[in-house]
Amino acid sequence: MMNYSVGQGDLENWLISEMVFEPDVLGKSEAIMYLGNGYMGLRSATEEPYMKEVRNLFVSGTFNKAEENEVTELSNLADVTRLDIRVDGERFSLEFGKTKDYIKQLNLKTAELRRYFNWTSPKGKVLQFEFKRFVSLDNLHLIGMKMLVKSLTDPVHISFDTGIDAQMSNSGSQHFLEGERRIFDKKDIQLVQITNESKIDVVINSTHKISVNDEERMDNPEMNMARRKVWLTYDINLQPNDKLEVEKLTTVYTSRDKDLDNVGYNIQQLREKSLKDSRNSSIKGYDSLFQSHKEAWNNSIWNAYKLEINSDNPYDQLALRFSLYHLTIMAPAHDERMGIAAKALSGEGYKGHSFWDTEIFMLPFFIFSNPAVAKSLLTYRYYGLEGARKKARENGYSGAMFPWEAAWPSDGEVTPTLGDIDIVTGEQTKIWSGVIEQHISADIAFAVYQYFNVTADHEFMDHYGYEIIFETASFWASRLEWNEDKQEYHINNIIGPDEYKEHVNNNAFTNYMAFFNMKLAIRYYETLMKENSSLLEKWTMKLDLKAAYPIWQSKAEKIYLPQPGEEDLVIPQDDTYLTLKELDLTKYKNQEKLRTIYRDYNAEQINTLQVTKQADTLLLFYLLKQTFLHEEIRLSDPIKEANFYYYESKTLHDSSLSLATHSILANDIGDTDLAYSLFRKSTEVDLGPRMNTSDGGIHAASIGGIWKAAIFGFAGIRLVDGKLRINPKLPNQWHHMKLTIHWQGQPITLFITAKTLSVKVENRKKIEFEVFDQVYTCDEEIKIAFENQK
Ligand code: BGC
Ligand code: BGC
Repeated sequence: MMNYSVGQGDLENWLISEMVFEPDVLGKSEAIMYLGNGYMGLRSATEEPYMKEVRNLFVSGTFNKAEENEVTELSNLADVTRLDIRVDGERFSLEFGKTKDYIKQLNLKTAELRRYFNWTSPKGKVLQFEFKRFVSLDNLHLIGMKMLVKSLTDPVHISFDTGIDAQMSNSGSQHFLEGERRIFDKKDIQLVQITNESKIDVVINSTHKISVNDEERMDNPEMNMARRKVWLTYDINLQPNDKLEVEKLTTVYTSRDKDLDNVGYNIQQLREKSLKDSRNSSIKGYDSLFQSHKEAWNNSIWNAYKLEINSDNPYDQLALRFSLYHLTIMAPAHDERMGIAAKALSGEGYKGHSFWDTEIFMLPFFIFSNPAVAKSLLTYRYYGLEGARKKARENGYSGAMFPWEAAWPSDGEVTPTLGDIDIVTGEQTKIWSGVIEQHISADIAFAVYQYFNVTADHEFMDHYGYEIIFETASFWASRLEWNEDKQEYHINNIIGPDEYKEHVNNNAFTNYMAFFNMKLAIRYYETLMKENSSLLEKWTMKLDLKAAYPIWQSKAEKIYLPQPGEEDLVIPQDDTYLTLKELDLTKYKNQEKLRTIYRDYNAEQINTLQVTKQADTLLLFYLLKQTFLHEEIRLSDPIKEANFYYYESKTLHDSSLSLATHSILANDIGDTDLAYSLFRKSTEVDLGPRMNTSDGGIHAASIGGIWKAAIFGFAGIRLVDGKLRINPKLPNQWHHMKLTIHWQGQPITLFITAKTLSVKVENRKKIEFEVFDQVYTCDEEIKIAFENQK
């Protein structure tokens, strides 16, 4: 059971708390309270072990393929968090004895995890425990842990094992060779391991400091080793009210680290560097390291984004902070060779792979809030061009066909090929997304467009952006199929965002996005011709644009773009969707768990029903309205509205990517109450009462969606063909909203109420923007009043 209202005073809406320990549902708090800094992610499993726990430590970019027939995945590193504790010889576990006043809590402001309670052992000894933990935002390699124990009634003997446990796996798949283990000075433990296929060295050091009543103890712990495990055992006697304090500081380094990943690298460097860091950390100690970490959060996150929601439901503010917290710790901002995983660094789900989730669901946050990180994430895709070209070639196409699932940039496609059991045949189903879910190439092109228009970062475009746009356009040009009868180009045998429809022809989303992608290439080509012919010359030589440009031109005009129906205005999701059987979906729409439709139908049967997994056609209205296609008559407001009601009623929101898009569109069409309820639902994907939904990890796209629904939905901030539009429509529950966004290189701070918008231009560089069809310019501060627009 989670509680979000424990925080009072300064801590109001900052604390995520679990009030009762339930050994059967550990996954929820492990995942939603996970700690990280983009370099690594540490799942918040408890110190003492339980049967259903999942211990995960992931370092971004450390992919490995455990077996020939598996796909590469982010490998689960050795664990440092487990402590085996005994009290007078009895094993400490919350499944025994009695626990009182239990709280496990993540403080979003300080990014610290705490757990505290009183525990009465089966023999009746009463102890007070407190555990604290953080993964530093200040030193990306550092994990700090602290345990405090007080015996309240009796003299007790506490004994505990602490070390590094490499008997870990990814659900059984072993990524590491056995490695070396060492203990220095009876307190510093070192483990060196290498991944079996990608040959990445990983060095983990843990150092310990033990004190009783604030006096450091030079104990003589027992030193132990077993296969893939090395640890110390401490034995300590405590008198009533004695305070035992154990600090464990760990550093994690790998040969993938940018400064080491070069020809001069040798493993000794890594060993020494990491040991030194860990010893230096030990001198500073938990409290001082935590202080620097806390300041980093304050300065670079909370004071930079300044997101404030004044709502009748204080939970809304907490949910937005939860979103900012996770967006921060999921992004490998330190290294542009790495992307964000669909489950971030919080669980094994989706194997650490990056999907379109990044570009369409998380990237907008970075584009508008922290453009440097957005640039890094798009540069990752630029490096991925190598793998994308390989995929295009292997499939008989030109240009760059981005992988549906991506890992290390040069890996190319890494989607697994076999999935769940088919309920009819009992066989493993084939996963088609890696072959025919192709919209990702256009999604990435869209993201480049959005980044460029919001940031005006020409340098990025000159080095990376144009190449991505030109190469994806060339992919689409080669992908189109000429239909002789209709005299137009089709895209056959595809999966759109709605993965409940496989092998369809002319998925509207894919066709329109391919059209956009090619039109964009044409526009950029023509702009460069006028404004920067030497740069165009460079790309023309490298990518043979002389041949490509006329092909884009002749083909783009002839792509079939499904039309809205004359009467109902509905754009067909694909060639057959509107002719499929309709089903009463009430049962699935009210489902407690996701994807319950699979209990009644297999994939083949679902393919024959008008049922949609997630926003598909509707996404066009959200995405393309931001571009030079915004005046496209087929995307006009009445058509948007008709499609919203048609498709929402057929959509099960079985993917967490669905709700936020629907919330934004509901607000666009003036249904703010529905938008608010969809916003709330989207926050509940991870924060809601269902205790198993986050077991495989948090839902990174949905977390990006929480931010998007608030900012693009309620605050009404939207890019429209290079211009900034702000049409706020706050839900009735919200009294005001404050935030800082970045627009073309400078921060601007907005304050929004039901009837006013104040804009403060932080660097005093003149900006222009539109509010409810009125254009404003400002280089300082302006307050605009508007009538209720609902
Ligand atoms: C997802 C696909 C993904 C596949 C394999 C499915 O559940 O819907 O998008 O490619 O898993 O990871
Ligand atoms: C969704 C995809 C998404 C993937 C990873 C699937 O369930 O249908 O759109 O990319 O999960 O989050």
